[in-house]
Amino acid sequence: MSKSCRTWITNDFYCINCGAKGIPIPRAGNKLKLKGHRKKMYCPNCRHDTNHIECRNMYEVNEFLENFKNGAYIEEAKETLEHERQHLRSALCDVRCARLG
Ligand SMILES: [Zn+2]
Repeated sequence: MSKSCRTWITNDFYCINCGAKGIPIPRAGNKLKLKGHRKKMYCPNCRHDTNHIECRNMYEVNEFLENFKNGAYIEEAKETLEHERQHLRSALCDVRCARLG
């Protein structure tokens, strides 16, 4: 019998903005989040910081893709992108204010 029961699994994260697979994050198997867990991360496909939905198996991936096709995440994606734009604006403002100051 092995002493180690800690398994590391890598879950897939899917971008709610473009539906592409994001960057996989390995985590300890005993620290599983609930189904449909969201994580804000950088999407290499649409190049935005968007919410990603964690999919633990093929069923959840299919469910996500189905929801995505049906537009279930459109509003949420818009909100995240709007949030990002505001951040960008205030960052630009900081640069401008720094120059003026
Ligand atoms: Zn994306």
